Amino acid sequence: MPKSSTGESINLRSNLEKIWLSAPHMSGKEQKYIDDAFARGHIFPMGPNVAGLESDICVFTSSKACACVSSGTAAIHLALIMLGVRQGDEVICSSFTFSASVNPIRYQGAIPVFVDSESLTWNMDPEILRYAIQARIATTGQKPKAIILVHLYGMPARLDEIVQIANEFDIPIIEDAAEALGSTFKDLHCGTFGEIGVYSFNGNKIITTSGGGALISDNSEYCQKAIFLATQARDPAPHYQHSEIGYNYRMSNISAGIGRGQMEVLSDHIEKRRANFFFYKNALAELDDIQFQTEPSSEYFSNHWLSTFVIDRDSSVDREDLRLHLEALNIETRPLWNPMHLQPVFRDCPKHINGVSEDLFIRGLCLPSSSNLSNDDRDFVVDSIKDYFGKG
Ligand SMILES: *Cc1c(COP(=O)(O)O)cnc(C)c1O
Repeated sequence: MPKSSTGESINLRSNLEKIWLSAPHMSGKEQKYIDDAFARGHIFPMGPNVAGLESDICVFTSSKACACVSSGTAAIHLALIMLGVRQGDEVICSSFTFSASVNPIRYQGAIPVFVDSESLTWNMDPEILRYAIQARIATTGQKPKAIILVHLYGMPARLDEIVQIANEFDIPIIEDAAEALGSTFKDLHCGTFGEIGVYSFNGNKIITTSGGGALISDNSEYCQKAIFLATQARDPAPHYQHSEIGYNYRMSNISAGIGRGQMEVLSDHIEKRRANFFFYKNALAELDDIQFQTEPSSEYFSNHWLSTFVIDRDSSVDREDLRLHLEALNIETRPLWNPMHLQPVFRDCPKHINGVSEDLFIRGLCLPSSSNLSNDDRDFVVDSIKDYFGKG
């Protein structure tokens, strides 16, 4: 029977419930907004909680305008429409991401062009970005229409260089900050560097509305237009009149009520997720063959949505074996994202690849990182990993 570092048998953990990768964490503050909506009969999409949540997000991120919608994916789709992305256009996108960053490009009939990662932040490599833009111009005679830049696991990308290249070629950036609400670069919020920033409030994110998303921009016209399109594109007329194709991408007033309560505890969630990261990093420091995704300098502030590490190439431990071992102990972990250029559905898309994301995918693991993870559970995760590496 395996022993923990304190000598106890680790499968005597009293609480045998699953330790989740990233669980919702309610504070109790959500209820008053929902009760208020019920008391007033505001059981519909949009409504005062949605307006309130939009204003909370503007204040928190110091952005001028916000539009709350039904998901982060819907927000990315609307952002692409706003920037005029159409059939046949090319859109540059981080390859190392979740498919929701890319799918909306296809909704528009546009073509994703994948750009690989650098090994410092694991996000889009600025040099490859520059090369990719030049290569696409040389091949098609046209500039890519937009850049979707992802901040993975909360880690800000190399924003100075990427924003500079985007400016040089005059290509707008959509920041997919779905995982990076509360992360900053040089004290400015991820999501505020591009034309439009996107957040997600899915159940596994740092705060949740049970499902939802938002766009932010300093150009309030984008947010007004996003809400217009998200509410079926109804022209201002007493009868039903439509001059454009609309969507039903609205956020429910009830969901937004959850979001308002969650905004009250967002800073606390960020502190707790970061505390998880530093706990893991310190507790596992003796394992020489793992390296955590770490802020490259004090300019970078990650919300550490997920604590993640990679196992050295020459380690005797295989990532998938470790994952299965932890799963057998009821600990949910997950490989890093499987890069988009490796996905069957995006097989034929142009790509500029250096091997970094494929390598991270093979060697990397995301650890249980919930803001409501108990100290006992965290200890159990650490002890189980140490045991597996033979240092229990
Ligand atoms: C979660 C996520 C999304 C999608 O957000 P939803 O609200 O689930 O639609 C997009 N991009 C990234 C990187 C994500 O992690």
